[in-house]
Amino acid sequence: SINIQSILSRLGVDQYLMPFYTGAKHSETKKHGSAQSISPVDGQTIAVFDLIDEEHYNDVVEIAKKAFEQWKFIPAPKRGEIVRQFAERLRESKDDLGALVSYEMGKSLQEGLGEVQEMIDICDFAVGLSRQLHGLTMHSERPLHRMYEQWHPLGIVGIISAFNFPVAVWSWNAALAWVCGNVCIWKPSEKTPVTAVACQNIISEVLEKNGLPAGISCLVIGDRNTGELMSNDTRIPLVSATGSTRMGKAVGAAVGARLGKSILELGGNNAIIITPDSDLNMALIGSIFGAVGTAGQRCTSTRRLIIHESVYEAFKEKLINAYKQLKIGNPLDASNHVGPLIDESAVEMYLSSIEKCIAEGGKFVVDGGKLEGEQYSSGCYVKPCVAEVSADFEIVKHETFAPILYLIKYREFDEAIYIQNNVPQGLSSAVITNNLREAERFLSVSGSDCGIANVNIGTSGAEIGGAFGGEKDTGGGRESGSDAWKAYMRRQTNTINYSTELPLAQGIKFDL
Ligand code: NAD
Repeated sequence: SINIQSILSRLGVDQYLMPFYTGAKHSETKKHGSAQSISPVDGQTIAVFDLIDEEHYNDVVEIAKKAFEQWKFIPAPKRGEIVRQFAERLRESKDDLGALVSYEMGKSLQEGLGEVQEMIDICDFAVGLSRQLHGLTMHSERPLHRMYEQWHPLGIVGIISAFNFPVAVWSWNAALAWVCGNVCIWKPSEKTPVTAVACQNIISEVLEKNGLPAGISCLVIGDRNTGELMSNDTRIPLVSATGSTRMGKAVGAAVGARLGKSILELGGNNAIIITPDSDLNMALIGSIFGAVGTAGQRCTSTRRLIIHESVYEAFKEKLINAYKQLKIGNPLDASNHVGPLIDESAVEMYLSSIEKCIAEGGKFVVDGGKLEGEQYSSGCYVKPCVAEVSADFEIVKHETFAPILYLIKYREFDEAIYIQNNVPQGLSSAVITNNLREAERFLSVSGSDCGIANVNIGTSGAEIGGAFGGEKDTGGGRESGSDAWKAYMRRQTNTINYSTELPLAQGIKFDL
């Protein structure tokens, strides 16, 4: 067990959170604490807080705007040096921060630590990137002319994040946004504000030590109303939002209506295709980790297995046996495989999805249900379950953020690809096969329609080096590695004439 009080004190987090933070000196408005962060691990209240009001929100935006005026002039490699120092501080705080992520969100301690590692990794990536924000040089069609492009920062980047990756997703955005010369306003999920304050404290210390304005990193504690203020705010040129498709449609519409930019990272409905040429042991590990890891609360969680009829029964038996070995309980205890859902309303959604599945004709081969008893007193622990379904059930096309795994049988590989793609979401996908033709077909233009497509790996656990995101109802945004940084900058094309003539493009003559 962990001593949460001493972790909070080492991370400098008070049990009363302020409605906003813009550096080491926090807002002074102490009120009643109308909202709480409750740990799904044991049902204890971690901290209380009030949501930010519009007046204070406006103050924060002005503080961020002012900070941008200084930060944008600091050379990108120097900005990278600040991100490097932030990563150093994260390394020192990794154990405390990882445990806090685990306790506030409910994921396993290993996954909590992994999330902090992901923050460190993206910072390292961003440090290198700070010397590589390259533009191209083009050949002008006109003599004695030079043409090139350069990338400038946008200004304030608004980051709206989900509860399930309470800190990593912020860092994917913030580390890139900062080296690109932007300042950030982060609105974390109202379900996980404590870990956010802990991260904000760390970056604030780094900024203060370097004599930089606090407003380079701002934190606002709010719910969807604050998210809506950000989406409608013309002072925020880019809103990067991670969460449900319902949320993303609202944010996308509001930002689009003012012709702002958005990066949308929304829900998934991820499948693994298990072919006759699969290594079934690999398929088993990938499927189970994908389905029950983080209690099925990853955007990349495996929700559907599309299994060839020739291996279907054998694989189903293996799966049922493996599910019997799963230990459910306190995620801070390393012997448990599955922790709690985030809150009781998530448990209600899980139970109602099971009912809907049964009503549509689904047959559960591993039963679900809510767990009772002393070690499950938070009311958030459920049994991972498995159902045999038909691919066209409505519930199968819906993302239930819980450990429910659907089994679907197929005959022809084309049919498997059709089933894999025939859902509204398009985030992650995988095929387990030793057959080169199937693997290449799956990755081809007529294969998976997802933003992530893997061979002999499951659907979850992406690395930061690649661009992360998905298509269709997943929102189309890309974050993290590759050239995702370009979304955080504005491109400018420059043409310079160093001749003594003024020739026009396309050979146009304009004589006076
Ligand atoms: P959610 O949509 O309920 O909330 C996400 C965030 O959006 C929160 O900060 C919330 O306050 C805010 N919000 C809600 N409605 C809003 C609105 N109308 N305008 C502005 N902001 C609003 O999601 P959640 O339950 O916290 O997270 C789970 C969901 O997130 C799942 O669907 C999961 O797949 C998705 N997710 C996607 C990715 C990805 O990268 N694709 C990563 C993690 C989570």
